[in-house]
Amino acid sequence: MKKATICPICQSKNIHKSFDAKDHFLSQEEFAIGQCEDCGTLFTNPRPEDKNLGKYYDSPDYLSHDTSHSGAIGKLYQTLRQINIKRKYKIVSQYVPAGKILDIGCGTGELLHFFYKKHWDCLGIEPNASARKFAKSHYKIEVEEEKSLKTLPATSFDIISMWHVLEHVPDVNQRIVEIKRILKEEGYLIIALPNPISWDANYYHAYWAGFDVPRHLYHFSPEAFAKLAKAHGLQIVKTLPLKFDAFYVSLLSERYKRSSFPLLNASYNGLRSNWKAKKTGNYSSLIYVLHKNQ
Ligand SMILES: [Zn+2]
Repeated sequence: MKKATICPICQSKNIHKSFDAKDHFLSQEEFAIGQCEDCGTLFTNPRPEDKNLGKYYDSPDYLSHDTSHSGAIGKLYQTLRQINIKRKYKIVSQYVPAGKILDIGCGTGELLHFFYKKHWDCLGIEPNASARKFAKSHYKIEVEEEKSLKTLPATSFDIISMWHVLEHVPDVNQRIVEIKRILKEEGYLIIALPNPISWDANYYHAYWAGFDVPRHLYHFSPEAFAKLAKAHGLQIVKTLPLKFDAFYVSLLSERYKRSSFPLLNASYNGLRSNWKAKKTGNYSSLIYVLHKNQ
């Protein structure tokens, strides 16, 4: 384990412990969440050494890397995933109708497969070897390891997307510098993140599945994320909700709480979260569309 004494985002010394959370998903280990008083970022602290992070992903239930689910839940998941993919495509194609996309953390490649069918030039980055292999063999998509990011040519992508990925990356500042280098001057960056100040995050608190410690190393509120973007010369041109996440995250959180009526409660709380967010904008998950400052 390593404990930061300065903010890993803005290097401020003004950090404090915020609360204790637990890895409900896999290890059942406790992890504290700290907060920076200057940039406002919440971050898992202490956190495992980078070389030990892999073991916290080592589960057959890690849905984003698993396409083998059968039965009613599996079918529902596949249907919802297709709806999600179409929505993501619709968002991206509003900014760039077609071109070259890099999806970082592409998992088994379903999203890129959809873009490929729409005549996009696609490249994926995925740290998980079996997910990489699946994407290559099933969809014939080119997928590389994370270290390849450094060798990709400068200003070469119209779109770089990270759907629920940046919160997993050990060095966020370094990652943003890397992606900014390979993004075209007129290109767009799409970053989806769980929102730790959403209604459901507040309601479930330490049980909130969006904290997902220690896999999530950072927990960016919209304000903290806006500061990070600004520090890197990036402009947020649009913020959009991922309304389905309020239900999905509530369902996982209900399970972690060992609720007697997980589906019923999650449906109700998902609705409540989305309804509250209509006024505040603080949906359970948010998609940020960013552009380089000209
Ligand atoms: Zn900070």
